[in-house]
Amino acid sequence: MEKKVIFATSNEGKMKEVQSILEDLGMEVLSMKEAGLQVDVVEDGTTFEENAVIKATEIQKMCGEIVLADDSGLEIDYLNKEPGIYSARYMGEDTSYAIKNQNLIDRLEGVEDEKRTARFVCAIAAAFPDGTVEVTRGTIEGRIGYEEKGSNGFGYDPIFYVPEYGCTTAELSLEQKNEASHRGKALRLMKEIIKTKSC
Ligand code: IMP
Repeated sequence: MEKKVIFATSNEGKMKEVQSILEDLGMEVLSMKEAGLQVDVVEDGTTFEENAVIKATEIQKMCGEIVLADDSGLEIDYLNKEPGIYSARYMGEDTSYAIKNQNLIDRLEGVEDEKRTARFVCAIAAAFPDGTVEVTRGTIEGRIGYEEKGSNGFGYDPIFYVPEYGCTTAELSLEQKNEASHRGKALRLMKEIIKTKSC
């Protein structure tokens, strides 16, 4: 029977990216919903890494499979790295990203290009049935744009401009985003660790 890996997220945008990156792992990659799990883990860590480990280990204990969890977010240098680990909760979990994105653009009003630097950060934790935990990190550097652009991706993608591509991450195809993104980088590092541990 194919080995299972559960990716602890209920975000469908993220899950699409994850399944595409892990498809050649030779394991069944399931979302929490697909695995029949419904848990709300309190992310009370102070770093992306801590939150990812909290999520992965708690869920691993419940299901016994290999569990991957990520914690990610947007750091804007001019705003002292806000929203950071609070990216999902910024302005309230239920506030639309159209509003959150406009708010960040407004907070950077009058700020010149060079000072609009930002990055997406992603920490991935893997909790294994033998009790071990591994963590990887990936980042992508960019700048906050002046208006929303593009309709791919999710969250803050429409305002995250990547100079190398000359567009926002919401204007990249899934393949391009996975190649360049914080999550893609962290997940590919983790894929190699899983391969090593599983053979
Ligand atoms: P998490 O689900 O707790 O890791 O929260 C991550 C939050 O950071 C998301 O809800 C988005 O607001 C933001 N975020 C993380 N990765 C991305 C991305 O690739 N594009 C856009 N927003 C992202």
